[in-house]
Amino acid sequence: MTDDSFHVYDTTLRDGAQREGLSFSVADKLAVARHLDALGVGFIEGGWPGANPKDVEFFARAQTELDLQHAQLAAFGATRRAGVKAPDDPQVSALRESGAPVVTLVAKAHGGHVTRALRTTLEENLAMVADTVSHLRAEGRRVFLDAEHFFDGYALDPAYALEVLRVAAEAGADVVVLCDTNGGTLPAQLADVVGAVLSTGLRVGIHAHDDAACAVANSLAAVQAGASHVQGTANGYGERCGNANLFSVVAGLECKLGRRVLPEGRLADLGRVSHAVAEVANIAPDPHQPYVGAAAFAHKAGMHVSAVKVAPELYQHVEPADVGNDMRLLVSELAGRATVELKSRDLGLATDRAAAGRVVDRVKEMEARGWSFEAAEASFELLLRTEIEGAAPSYFDVESWRVIVETRDDGSVVSEATVKLHAQGKRIVATGEGNGPVHALDTALRLALERSYPQLARLQLVDYKVRIVEGVHGTAAVTRVLVETSDGEGEWDTIGVHENVVAASWDALVDAVTYGLLRRENADAAREVGVLAGTAPV
Ligand SMILES: [Zn+2]
Repeated sequence: MTDDSFHVYDTTLRDGAQREGLSFSVADKLAVARHLDALGVGFIEGGWPGANPKDVEFFARAQTELDLQHAQLAAFGATRRAGVKAPDDPQVSALRESGAPVVTLVAKAHGGHVTRALRTTLEENLAMVADTVSHLRAEGRRVFLDAEHFFDGYALDPAYALEVLRVAAEAGADVVVLCDTNGGTLPAQLADVVGAVLSTGLRVGIHAHDDAACAVANSLAAVQAGASHVQGTANGYGERCGNANLFSVVAGLECKLGRRVLPEGRLADLGRVSHAVAEVANIAPDPHQPYVGAAAFAHKAGMHVSAVKVAPELYQHVEPADVGNDMRLLVSELAGRATVELKSRDLGLATDRAAAGRVVDRVKEMEARGWSFEAAEASFELLLRTEIEGAAPSYFDVESWRVIVETRDDGSVVSEATVKLHAQGKRIVATGEGNGPVHALDTALRLALERSYPQLARLQLVDYKVRIVEGVHGTAAVTRVLVETSDGEGEWDTIGVHENVVAASWDALVDAVTYGLLRRENADAAREVGVLAGTAPV
């Protein structure tokens, strides 16, 4: 951390994951953390290790698998239980053992919650805060205090709510974060309370929920009142109506208030990161999301469009490119010529403006038909090689495939696939079974290729996501399939899009196997010249 004067604190992986229907695997959490780090947030709250074994695994894997350039990890947890010493509380031990340099402790700042939910006394609650903060400080952790239900607690008993903050700060908490946990506070009253807390000399943060549709407004109002730490989640994911959308908050701070809160130039990544996180979460991006939505700067046809072309600033509250968006077309990280040239250079492909332009056109045309390359870098690399080198990397030619689904006498349902292809001059026919059509096709494809390419034995399908993409401009809906494959050393993502879900899956599988073979070939070639392989996104 170079500048500690303002904190952009993300809690997608903890509070955001409370959203109904959202479930992150540990690998998903690591992927989200990488995207947020690339955006340049200061803190990533990874989870609650004392309450959730998956979060213990996240923190353990984060130490070896995450190479954070910008963010620090924070572990979330509660103050010690009543009547127990902080070092002896297993939940507090889990925070210590997470390895995270920052611990964010949630504490009750509302008398009613202390006596009725926590079932302890107001005095013991203060002791719990003081003991836990000082214990973690003594263990070398930086501590932030999330004061839960703060605004409701302050309305009821301001003296007690402030006492909780004072005790925490005295014990060594750097920031006291005022939480609008029920999300019902309005901006003007919230700013007054933030001002009152600031007048006691504490460093104040804000954590707002969106139940009254004011989470972003409340976060901005708090910062304008003097808060210097803001919490939120990617795309506003969160329980009930969601948390403050960190992307909107950051865009508001940078574009409207002239506060630089991300590293130089990163705001232009906002659109890409928003979409990439949505892909990992398997939630369709909201086209009407402020700043980053595909429709955020889309102007309806008519007279006004020509005026927009002449003087876009008259019709747009910010410059779309500043937040990684586009005035007309669906945003795509990969659709920019500069990005294509950069990516080609990374891969060692000789490209020129004409070839890069071809790739951009092709990506835009495919995106209009439902493709999305943000979360399918391996498929994008194959497309790039095809356009730039004039031919796709080819290890086999598919003649045909088919799959049947069969019920058997015992009531079970089995799928059986047949794949016919040509590899290394031979025609191969292979049949595979699986518990579903995609599994059967995957099995048959590997069986067909294993003689020619024994290295495929290492490949494993690790994730499979399906989404129906609504038709655009009057076209029919299509199915988008994302497949994640691993060879034990790295993972890669491929995509298939088709009206038929099995056909979309097949295309994603073929890309996955082709990329796996290409990756191995590149790794072998690199090893021969004594350098490490650098082509594969991991
Ligand atoms: Zn919350």
